[in-house]
Amino acid sequence: MEMRKLSVVQETATHVLQACRLYEALREEILADAPLARALEAYRAAIERTRGAFAEAGIFKACGVCAAHVFGGCCFPDMEWNYTVVHLLINRLLGCRLPTRHAYEDQCLFLGDKGCLLTAKNHFCLNYFCQDIQRKLGPTTLKAILQVVGAEIMAGWQVELLLMHRYRSDLFV
Ligand code: SF4
Ligand code: SF4
Repeated sequence: MEMRKLSVVQETATHVLQACRLYEALREEILADAPLARALEAYRAAIERTRGAFAEAGIFKACGVCAAHVFGGCCFPDMEWNYTVVHLLINRLLGCRLPTRHAYEDQCLFLGDKGCLLTAKNHFCLNYFCQDIQRKLGPTTLKAILQVVGAEIMAGWQVELLLMHRYRSDLFV
């Protein structure tokens, strides 16, 4: 069943707006901080490794025709609220543009035509593989993919820790 496109704002994406405000205010300072800049580059590299592994295993292809186009996909509403302001700020720091309007009714704010629009995904999104995908991958490939995903999550956690250490955590609420 094809999803309907929305032309109106479903609800205010307050966390996205706050992340964009912080990005404008702090990006120069953050990128000039050598440990943070190094951690961001290490995270970017880990994300690229995951992307390569997902592409090779056919995960993007399978999810690309499912997530936005098949009823009952896994990018359901409310998933967007698993993303905190700090996650979204990190996405901006990695050059990802964040949507403030839903492209699809009753789907995650970050879902686009060809899948997820985020560069830095959290562990919920990275670790979830439906039964179909698990069957297609088989246990050996799935285990290898989960290891690559684990390294990406750890690299993201390093960036998050450095940001929380440098700035007041209430900035990210
Ligand atoms: S994990 Fe499964 S349900 Fe989720 S988008 Fe991919 S194919 Fe669809
Ligand atoms: S953040 Fe991306 S992967 Fe996660 S539910 Fe939303 S669209 Fe899907």
